[in-house]
Amino acid sequence: MSCPACGSPRVRPSRPKGGRETLLRVWTMTRYHQCRECGWRARLARTSHDAGSDPPDLRFWTVAALVGLGFVYVLLRAG
Ligand SMILES: [Zn+2]
Repeated sequence: MSCPACGSPRVRPSRPKGGRETLLRVWTMTRYHQCRECGWRARLARTSHDAGSDPPDLRFWTVAALVGLGFVYVLLRAG
């Protein structure tokens, strides 16, 4: 793909910054892309060809989210 801001083809997937972006990425099945030329950055839907590029990462964060939800549930029950 090319950058919608400057037209450069140097758009690469970008690692999420912080937990919020990571959760957004997993839950919305999107990932951040960043333009190496102008710094444009946006969350885009995953394309089919890269959907399987990081299944261990996705599994890890899905489990982490479930554990987190379970922890909140226990806290609410205890409180
Ligand atoms: Zn650009």
